[in-house]
Amino acid sequence: MALYSIVIPLYNEEEVVEECIKRVDGVCRKLDGDYEIIFVNDGSKDRTVELMMNACKVNTKIKLLSFSRNFGHQIAITAGMDYAKGDAVIVMDADLQDPPEVITSLIDKYKEGFDVVYAVRSKRKGETIFKKWTSKAFYRFLRFMCNIDIPVDTGDFRLISRKVCDVMKKLTERNRYVRGLVSWVGFKQAAVEYVREERFAGETKYPLRKMLKLSMDGITSFSSKPLSMSKNLGFFTATAGFIYMVIVILNKYVFGKTVQGWASLIVVILLIGGIQLIVLGVVGDYIARIFDESKNRPLYIIEDKYNFNGE
Ligand code: UDP
Ligand code: MG
Repeated sequence: MALYSIVIPLYNEEEVVEECIKRVDGVCRKLDGDYEIIFVNDGSKDRTVELMMNACKVNTKIKLLSFSRNFGHQIAITAGMDYAKGDAVIVMDADLQDPPEVITSLIDKYKEGFDVVYAVRSKRKGETIFKKWTSKAFYRFLRFMCNIDIPVDTGDFRLISRKVCDVMKKLTERNRYVRGLVSWVGFKQAAVEYVREERFAGETKYPLRKMLKLSMDGITSFSSKPLSMSKNLGFFTATAGFIYMVIVILNKYVFGKTVQGWASLIVVILLIGGIQLIVLGVVGDYIARIFDESKNRPLYIIEDKYNFNGE
């Protein structure tokens, strides 16, 4: 009999935990195989763990990994994948924005022989215009920047087969962009459309700061274009500077005009200074990532495990 693993990250989700368990467990009971629901507590500071521990006592299909602190959504998903035993692993959010009922459609596609089935948002309900627009623009920008084909408008809600999960375990990079990695590994991939619902309760655990970090990880993990773009920008400003220098010299010695204009000078200095800092920053960003990798620390630290018998 097939075993399905559902992986759900939790960060301060006390308001949604119980409803989430009820809905997901309800869907799983109707599946044609056995199942396990692996919750990963990503260092919650509220009652999430307490509620989860109660649930684990009642239902042994519910398992919990608890981190020693907040390691971030992408790392939490990774830990879940590492511990999942299923023939297929499904990753979803806890807030029921990814409707558990879609799991059945993901599994149907998996049975047709696909190794990755990702859920594409055809509509997003209850999210701010700002979030919708920035994420729409970002997915397209990422596609333009990267050499691999990352599908637009998909989150981490997806199914991966055992084969893909085993390959994912070998990718140990730190600043992870899981959906990019899943595209990168290849295999037969298919999409299923769904309507992204409103958050069941509570508020988003992805403030702008975390969104920006995730976007930067997406771009720098899959593209070195920012580096070559910086170089091109440098060439462009240097050429423009050179042409301007020739004009200045001609003006002085051929046309006998002396240069006035302090304003234009300061503008050019500021502009070029700014560009230099940006370029340095881009280079620095890549160096910081090399630094992170070279430290070779574990991706996450697990403080407690529940219902993982004998592991
Ligand atoms: N999450 C997490 N660690 C974090 C932030 C979020 O594990 O540092 C989890 C969160 O509990 C939820 C999922 O990641 O299950 C997606 O977060 P959220 O729904 O807040 O993001 P949004 O849907 O607003 O993009
Ligand atoms: Mg959400």
